[in-house]
Amino acid sequence: MIDVSPDPTDRCEPSVALSVVIPMFNEEEALPALVGRLRPVLDGTQETYEVVAVDDGSTDGTAVRLAGLRADWPQLRIVRLRRNSGHQAALTAGLHHARGSHAVSLDADLQDPPEKIPEMLALARTRQLDIVYGVRVNRSSDTGFKRRTAGLYYWLMRRLVGPHVCAQAGDFRLLSRHALDALKALPDQPQVYRLLMPWFGFPSGEVTYRREPRVAGRTKYPLRKMILLAIDSVIGFSVAPLRLAVWLGTLAFLVCLGMLAYTLAVYAAGDTTRGWTSLIIAVLFIGSVQLVCLGVLGEYIGRLYTAAQRRPTYYVAEDTAAASTPTAGVP
Ligand code: UDP
Ligand code: MG
Repeated sequence: MIDVSPDPTDRCEPSVALSVVIPMFNEEEALPALVGRLRPVLDGTQETYEVVAVDDGSTDGTAVRLAGLRADWPQLRIVRLRRNSGHQAALTAGLHHARGSHAVSLDADLQDPPEKIPEMLALARTRQLDIVYGVRVNRSSDTGFKRRTAGLYYWLMRRLVGPHVCAQAGDFRLLSRHALDALKALPDQPQVYRLLMPWFGFPSGEVTYRREPRVAGRTKYPLRKMILLAIDSVIGFSVAPLRLAVWLGTLAFLVCLGMLAYTLAVYAAGDTTRGWTSLIIAVLFIGSVQLVCLGVLGEYIGRLYTAAQRRPTYYVAEDTAAASTPTAGVP
């Protein structure tokens, strides 16, 4: 059992009221619209704030645009990762670096409306909540394929991980300093935040919103990345595939017993030439069950191996706030 109660040495003294963490990968086209909507909202709150833009190894003009924006927006802080580490790792970097009493994570493409941030903050403060989830009530802007795969994902996760997984809550959420410190105390390994946060069991609330279409550019989540996120979610939070492997193995064993009885009966009847088809079926069946089970084991062993290497999930090349030497993992 991992002790995830915040380690006092990991605690960070908040220096601003609110951090807004935005992972971004090749979002140069979305940036002007993002700043155009986000800045008035944040300036209007009268809170002290910082915007932590995590540049996840962008190869387009994102870095140049961010540097230009910072010249005129001192609250904009750029945390640049050395290479593309993936959405969840970029989010980890941003949350680790956030210095606010609260932090909101937001996508760069304006699919999550920044106008909801004051409502989230007010809810967290008035009801003393550690987490406020942004819950999508309307995804009509997403493609039918995206809606169906997302529906399947949350259905599966609620069954495998538990009913506390909030369906339709993505990565638009507010965390208190307490929740942020709990995150920092976790070992540095890949996380799926939409499953991890409910798992903590912090007092939480919800703010509903309409999922808007992406403002500019293309999705950075092609089918391949969606499948990888789903595999990480299942393997990272459940041993159900290992149990399934046991059931599959048991089923294969029972089928084999039946075939053994059949073969012996045929042999006893004096007919030793029949049975080629059933033999091939049995060989293929057992072979494929074994391969599936080996694959499942491989997924878990692969994660153990990666965890044992203790390599950080991200490398920070530059942090404009600290202007410090590069850091890896928890700062
Ligand atoms: N993103 C990232 N690194 C990646 C992929 C995505 O930081 O490797 C960011 C991306 O720039 C965006 C957020 O993660 O701010 C969500 O990605 P996207 O909007 O493309 O996903 P979708 O909404 O299509 O699922
Ligand atoms: Mg998006």
